[in-house]
Amino acid sequence: MNRTLYGNLIFELSKKGRRGYSLPQDYDRTHTTAELPEALRRKEAARLPECDELTVVRHYTNLSHNNFGVNDGFYPLGSCTMKYNPVINEEIAAMKAFAGLHPLQPAETCQGALEVYFNLQQSLAELAGLSEFTLNPCAGAHGELTGLMVIRAYHESQGATSRTKVLIPDSAHGTNPASAAVCGLEVVEVKSLPDGTVDVDHLRELLAEMGDQVAAMMMTNPNTLGIFEPRVLEITEMVHKAGGLMYYDGANLNALLGECRPGDMGFDVMHINLHKTFSTPHGGGGPGSGPVGVRKGLEQFLPYPRVKMREAAPLSSPEGDTTPVFSIDWGNEAPSGAVGGASTPSTISVGSFFGNFGVMLKAYAYILSLGHENVKMVGPLATLNANYIKERLRDDYLLPISGLCKHEVVFDGLVDKNTGVTTMDVAKRLLDYGYHAPTIYFPLLFHESLMIEPTENESKETIDSFIDVMHKIAAEAKSDPELVKTAPHNTPIGRVDDVLAAKQPVTTYWKTLP
Ligand SMILES: *Cc1c(COP(=O)(O)O)cnc(C)c1O
Repeated sequence: MNRTLYGNLIFELSKKGRRGYSLPQDYDRTHTTAELPEALRRKEAARLPECDELTVVRHYTNLSHNNFGVNDGFYPLGSCTMKYNPVINEEIAAMKAFAGLHPLQPAETCQGALEVYFNLQQSLAELAGLSEFTLNPCAGAHGELTGLMVIRAYHESQGATSRTKVLIPDSAHGTNPASAAVCGLEVVEVKSLPDGTVDVDHLRELLAEMGDQVAAMMMTNPNTLGIFEPRVLEITEMVHKAGGLMYYDGANLNALLGECRPGDMGFDVMHINLHKTFSTPHGGGGPGSGPVGVRKGLEQFLPYPRVKMREAAPLSSPEGDTTPVFSIDWGNEAPSGAVGGASTPSTISVGSFFGNFGVMLKAYAYILSLGHENVKMVGPLATLNANYIKERLRDDYLLPISGLCKHEVVFDGLVDKNTGVTTMDVAKRLLDYGYHAPTIYFPLLFHESLMIEPTENESKETIDSFIDVMHKIAAEAKSDPELVKTAPHNTPIGRVDDVLAAKQPVTTYWKTLP
């Protein structure tokens, strides 16, 4: 990229009076502002960059080449499931018939869209082993909050208002304690054993001490170390006995897909990140979708609006019966006010209208294109790839927990701790070789966590090349540690000073102008 010619910022390319458009000579500039009250109109023209069209095109095209996504290369970002998003999903989500829908359109004019919504709910319920799903939440953390609100509403309906504690393992994703706190519940940490699984003895102590105050336990399984909790059935039974509900963080369902179901493990409420497991591009802030499922008996606490399917028409119904098959139940809310509290039975409403429908379309297209048979291959292949990487890298990278992992593997930096090369350095050096870095310094259980999630889509050749590069970096760490410690060397921007960036952040452009 020619930086001197195309510049870092579009403002640096601006030339006074330069235009990228031409309007008719008789274009009346006043009519666009005519409806705005005088007081609201700007007094001076906005300071916008003035550039010709080709310069703008080159500038943004060059910037886009600095981007990195799954379609550019291997992206083993653990806990984030950066898997391939088939292009057909995008095409379906972009279809005019879907993209042009209005959220207040009468149900009889959008039966197809409602059918997609309804069928996706059913598919997720089947995959999760639960009774019913709402697709309304817009992210994983939003789903957690919704699920906890469902749990609180359930306990309130039982008169158990003193159940305000949520048990969360110390290995949990940070959103778990955050969601519990936002929901007004109190977080109680459950310790992990050295192998990363839940310390069941500690859980037993906590339940003996405060069992009647426990609203729920939140769990991720496989946990954030990629380890399947062997005692999950015992755990769910213990919490149920104490009167609490079990919440399953299903943000990453990749390891389980087609293999086993949270409902069968005894979980009562869960969320799924459609933008991780069900193939929607993510990273950079959305749009996402975090559907929440519940077991039988909790359906009435799910938020509105809901999509309902009509009971099969009786055989005696008159021919030409045109009653729509799918309808929208807004609860006690007027359609225009989907945010806010409806009264009984559900008091929960979590967003405007139905959530991010585009994400749902992609998930539904993905599920249909995999089909019943192929969906069963996702978990085993994701698991095989992670274990292959684990076994081939453990000579150079410290493996704190051996044994089988699921869809991701966590190393604790390099085996050789004498080189001074850290996980951060390895991650930066990977960029030089054209790979996105794995997740680093998470989970917090180890000092030098390096968390690799290959996903099920990668070919053996891709994974082998990555393994070769990881070995090469380990060799460099021994022979030329400075090279690794000062990486990256081939990226547009070198090693940034993250301490300075944190202490003196410059977040505006204008400030930096002379
Ligand atoms: C990503 C993730 C979340 C949060 O999902 P968002 O959509 O980013 O809010 C929650 N739990 C786990 C385990 C995750 O990996």
